[in-house]
Amino acid sequence: MSIEVKNLVKYYGNQAAVNDISFSIKKGEIVGFLGPNGAGKSTTMKIITGFIPSSSGTVNVCSMPVDVDSMDTRQKIGYLPEHNPLYLDMYVREYLEFVGKIYKIPNLNERVKNMVKAVGLEVEQNKKVGQLSKGYRQRLGLAAAIIHDPEVLILDEPTSGLDPNQLVGIRDLIKEIGKSKTVLLSTHIMQEVEAICDRVIIINRGKIVADDKAENLQLNSSKQTVYVEFDGNITKSQLGKIAAVTKIETVGNGWLLEGQNGNDLRKEVAEYARDNGLLVLTMRIEERSLEEVFKELTK
Ligand code: ADP
Repeated sequence: MSIEVKNLVKYYGNQAAVNDISFSIKKGEIVGFLGPNGAGKSTTMKIITGFIPSSSGTVNVCSMPVDVDSMDTRQKIGYLPEHNPLYLDMYVREYLEFVGKIYKIPNLNERVKNMVKAVGLEVEQNKKVGQLSKGYRQRLGLAAAIIHDPEVLILDEPTSGLDPNQLVGIRDLIKEIGKSKTVLLSTHIMQEVEAICDRVIIINRGKIVADDKAENLQLNSSKQTVYVEFDGNITKSQLGKIAAVTKIETVGNGWLLEGQNGNDLRKEVAEYARDNGLLVLTMRIEERSLEEVFKELTK
């Protein structure tokens, strides 16, 4: 395992920001860490990277226990914090050389050149950091996070504040880097998880509420939505007589009916149509979006 978190707890004063969470991430996985603001994502990431201590529980990175002074685990981890601190007066290459020296990287010139290329900073490499757009600053942050070739990459909201074009660029870059590293990436953007991640861990109020592949979360949702079109007129209140239906919406020529998952809504709708002499033209289960699943799990 690249990352193993067991019974992790973090108190700030009396408040449990992280309340007994456990998960592990295999080498090579890209895992999305999802949750509303204040759920405990940053706190968990700061503990994994050794920035702050936990209150209790254990965290191992590459089979070594993480603690605040551990130089061994820091060598294995690349970290891009949420508010990426950069020295704005330094030149791009100068900044990477500065970070590289901290890690005592041999052949630093060569390594910096490779990093600039790997994150697509060639055109901007002679600028000062303060002159870079937000998208390029994130690229630079990523280059600094991987300059010591860590096995594990922890990215806290890596795409927040980027415009749609920059966003696509950074996502592609994370995917590319993720081919050879283990990545834990926090976000509250569902499309991001769908675009990049193999697996999703959802945290809410300091507790893990889901840990699975995105498609499994969608399939195992507690609710089911069915789209149905009838031949002939029918009203909302008539449809409301189907006992299993909990929500009704009109969409185009048909209806979206929502009910609890478990008893297939389609059967109830078909029976209702038969009993009321209605002809069903179309009926299908609608895939639940990850966004809906997220809302169900974190409300
Ligand atoms: P997220 O990253 O999911 O938005 P955080 O880990 O930043 O969540 O915060 C979790 C909870 O801990 C929040 O209620 C936040 O206000 C609180 N918190 C975070 N950092 C501190 C701190 N340094 N001191 C006190 N409370 C904090």
